[in-house]
Amino acid sequence: MPLPSQPKSEDTVIGIERTSCCVVGGGPGGAMLALLLARRGVPVTLLEMHHDFDREFRGDTIHPSTLEILDQIGLADKLHQIPHTKLSGPTLQFANGPFRPFDLGRLKTRFPYILMVPQSRFLEFITAEAAQYPQFKLRMHAQVQHLLVEDGAVRGVRYHGSDGLHELRAPLTVAADGRFSLLRKLAGIEPEKTSPPMDVLWFRLPKLPGEPEVTGGAFGGIGRGRIFVLLERNDYWQAGLVFPKGQYQEVRGKGVEAVRQSLAEAEPRFAKHAEALTDWRQFTLLSVESSRCPVWHKPGLLLIGDAAHVMSPVGGVGINYAIQDAVEAANILTRPLLDGKVTDRDLAEVQKRREFPTRVIQRMQTVMQRRLVASVLQSQQALNIPWQLKLFFRIPFLRDLPARMIGFGIKRDHIAEPNVARPQPANR
Ligand SMILES: Cc1cc2nc3c(=O)[nH]c(=O)nc-3n(C[C@H](O)[C@H](O)[C@H](O)COP(=O)(O)OP(=O)(O)OC[C@H]3O[C@@H](n4cnc5c(N)ncnc54)[C@H](O)[C@@H]3O)c2cc1C
Repeated sequence: MPLPSQPKSEDTVIGIERTSCCVVGGGPGGAMLALLLARRGVPVTLLEMHHDFDREFRGDTIHPSTLEILDQIGLADKLHQIPHTKLSGPTLQFANGPFRPFDLGRLKTRFPYILMVPQSRFLEFITAEAAQYPQFKLRMHAQVQHLLVEDGAVRGVRYHGSDGLHELRAPLTVAADGRFSLLRKLAGIEPEKTSPPMDVLWFRLPKLPGEPEVTGGAFGGIGRGRIFVLLERNDYWQAGLVFPKGQYQEVRGKGVEAVRQSLAEAEPRFAKHAEALTDWRQFTLLSVESSRCPVWHKPGLLLIGDAAHVMSPVGGVGINYAIQDAVEAANILTRPLLDGKVTDRDLAEVQKRREFPTRVIQRMQTVMQRRLVASVLQSQQALNIPWQLKLFFRIPFLRDLPARMIGFGIKRDHIAEPNVARPQPANR
């Protein structure tokens, strides 16, 4: 389908800038792509509509594959200096005892864990690193509203800054603007959606004085139509209550007291913590979605991360997959961008390399959701560990498969040319 020409705004454009790559959206995918291009000498401008990176909880997980990528460019140790916790695998509490579905601690890597860092701190870290390269520009409070389309190809965007309307012209625009991507819509690309059977309420619980750590950094309570997830943080618990899709109004209607009760039933140890829940504003709803675009590109435009595919939260791989897209996009597009010739074939190659791993993981998530999550959420009983699960995890080769999938995805992407000169302090 040809790109629709975009409506012209009546407002006056107060500034026109040019760059080689315009990245829209300063989430994990966009920020990482901008860093990787800038360090290879590609002029890149990152547009983010918020004033800062500090906003609602959207997951704080940095997977082993991302840590390996950061290690390649000398940033992993520095990232570990930000206050963090480590998650090697949850302990799920069934009626007949605890069960660990995966253990990243057995992976053969320098980083056998998920590093839990607030996403805002991670994004500040990545953009601060990118800012050391003169090719990188960051425009905060820059809300993109239109695509600039010329001769059937995207040639940049029009955005509202704090001082008025701007144009940013570029031979390549990357839509890294998340699950509700406006650029995807403007380009006329429609994602194909599947509907996972659950939604999640995220909230924080306090840590109590002298409280012991949980094994593996995470805990899950299973049974009576609910799954209760707890991730260990330095001074609080990040908690999630998983419930059947379509029940949000019911859950909301029953109020905070009912959530407190669900927690206490799932794991009595956390009844005391749940007393801190007093107001519905303490909760963030994650309306669980899973989707994938049939096509991730149009001439002059590439979709990455959630804009191209929204991942279900099973396995918590959304951030990791957005970053892997950024790594492949940088690997494939750096040379064409430096030469000033990005072709449709280059953009198609990014989709080709990333679509397969995305499809496979989404397929596996669907199976997990249908076989496990849905049956737990439909049952009002306290549940025992399914024997099939026990058997699966007794077979050594199979036992480590989930950990490998969660830690690295389907294939271990790395930066093609990690060794470039870092800018000297005097040049900054
Ligand atoms: C409540 C919640 C919990 C989650 N938990 C986890 C988890 O534990 N682990 C995990 O891996 N994933 C988790 N996810 C999913 C994860 O957040 C996403 O998969 C990931 O952030 C995708 O990265 P992205 O860069 O593609 O998009 P996003 O992180 O969504 O970033 C998009 C950026 O684009 C900006 N933007 C949007 N429109 C415009 C515009 N018009 N102009 C300029 N800027 C724009 C947005 O402000 C945003 O900063 C969670 C999501 C939610 C909602």
